[in-house]
Amino acid sequence: MNDLPAGATPKPSGPYELVCRQTYAEYRHSTRPRVVRVEGVAFGGDGPPTIIAGPCAVESREQTLAIARAVKTVGAQLLRGGAFKPRTSPYDFQGLGDEGLTILAEVRSEVGLPIVTEVLDPRDVERVGRVADCLQVGARSMQNFPLLREVGRFGLPVLLKRHWAATLTEWLCAAEYIAVEGNLDIILCERGIRTFSHDDYSRNTLDLNVIPAVRERSILPIVADPSHAAGIASMVPDAARAAIGSGADGLIVEVVADESQRCHALCDGPQGILPVELAAIIDDSRAWPRGQRSKLALK
Ligand code: PEP
Ligand code: MN
Repeated sequence: MNDLPAGATPKPSGPYELVCRQTYAEYRHSTRPRVVRVEGVAFGGDGPPTIIAGPCAVESREQTLAIARAVKTVGAQLLRGGAFKPRTSPYDFQGLGDEGLTILAEVRSEVGLPIVTEVLDPRDVERVGRVADCLQVGARSMQNFPLLREVGRFGLPVLLKRHWAATLTEWLCAAEYIAVEGNLDIILCERGIRTFSHDDYSRNTLDLNVIPAVRERSILPIVADPSHAAGIASMVPDAARAAIGSGADGLIVEVVADESQRCHALCDGPQGILPVELAAIIDDSRAWPRGQRSKLALK
């Protein structure tokens, strides 16, 4: 930032100055991200990729507890699960709301994994933030500017998903809305963009190229969401490995307890992988040191 006399209006050097790599002397000549910690779990550090896993939506205490235990056992460090779901149709399951938050709080204390959960409405930030350890801003909300400002003011780490039609500049400007409120603890999440594969062979297209592009332009760590990118469970493990190979700092993965849930889950069942499949992804990612995963990851 510029050195300004008191009372002067800051003149930004670009549309996303606070999240821009060039702004910071200590990051300018490197491609390392700034480390963001969620309850002590680091995103962007030198260790293996950080894994967030869990159900798409919190559907019941039993379902959430079973999946939380399973993903913890195989090495996930954070639990995901939505209590407020952004659904395309208003007639689809919208999440359990407050009941879902209560379940997340109980599961957190029972299993001990920090919680990543979505907030949809600026008026809910405090209520969701009381339970969450990291607030997820979903793809559909990426340019909900009042929500971005509110999560920025609240101060918890934020997982900011990319909208499927957002350019990198639009995405980084969205992050800037959070940063400008004083919160730089932002983790970017690439979750697939819309191309002509949509509705044909996969739900979205995982934009692997955006991972090194983020590295070069921004100090923020970036994770990939292979589940929403693929939309089909069988495609998720390879998409996850590809993202790690491109230098992603971690993954957020949807998991179902067993195969029957792929048909019966109230949201996104077909893309949920089994705990055993998550275990294989985690094992591979641990065996693949950061310096070998991506040319850009260690500079
Ligand atoms: C989700 O994480 O369940 C979700 C709704 O993701 P996205 O906002 O990327 O569609
Ligand atoms: Mn989902």
